[in-house]
Amino acid sequence: MSPDPGRRHRRSLDGLRILVSAGPTREHLDPVRFISNPSSGRMGYAIARACRERGAKVVLVTGPVELAKPKGMRVLPVVTAREMLRACAKEFVRADAFVACAAVSDFRPVRQSRQKKKKDGRGDWLELRANPDILLSLSRRKQGRVLVGFAAETQDLIANAESKLRRKRLDLIVANSVAQGRGFGADDNRATLLEPGGHAAALPLMSKRKLAGKIATRLAALIRASRHQRIGRVE
Ligand code: C5P
Repeated sequence: MSPDPGRRHRRSLDGLRILVSAGPTREHLDPVRFISNPSSGRMGYAIARACRERGAKVVLVTGPVELAKPKGMRVLPVVTAREMLRACAKEFVRADAFVACAAVSDFRPVRQSRQKKKKDGRGDWLELRANPDILLSLSRRKQGRVLVGFAAETQDLIANAESKLRRKRLDLIVANSVAQGRGFGADDNRATLLEPGGHAAALPLMSKRKLAGKIATRLAALIRASRHQRIGRVE
């Protein structure tokens, strides 16, 4: 059953192009082992659906997850952070907004073995290299686009989220605590929505679907505001 976004919000993203990244990425060490994280993709998929229900044209770039492919949108499956960057960068050009919900692996192995690594008693062969920050790199080409990020933190939640909001030039950041494994994989989430200028809304625990609706509603307002600003500048 498709949840009704409510009369007031119906079609609030009509015709707008929203790019959403979701799920984890995987960085293979060898054909059977990889570095990843427990992201289920549920939050990103719920946001993609909420945007679709409000009339948006959605492109969902997704890491490997065990969720059904959502209908009514373009779904681009990727595995690694670099693949996710390539897919997002290509779609970003035409997007009105980018909601970066993916839990991207921060590191990848410098070398990837084509054969399964043997147990030879040594554990000192793994060398890591930092992955690109997709949101940060696309924020450098932001122009009039609205950018939404997530901050999953185990400590200093608000301070860390505020610093990401500034550094990645975001219009909205969804801060949630993942201390003791909370947030990841669950069906519900407790989040604080932060915006530049110190505006903060601490939301109660709610389903990811409901939280996605709130984020999509705020996104619609932010896109409208950004458009007005741009039109104001041209006139
Ligand atoms: O800095 P941190 O990883 O906590 O930032 C989280 C935000 O940045 C999320 O919105 C996430 O999707 C995005 N991100 C990204 N590429 C990365 C790391 C994070 O797009 N390599």
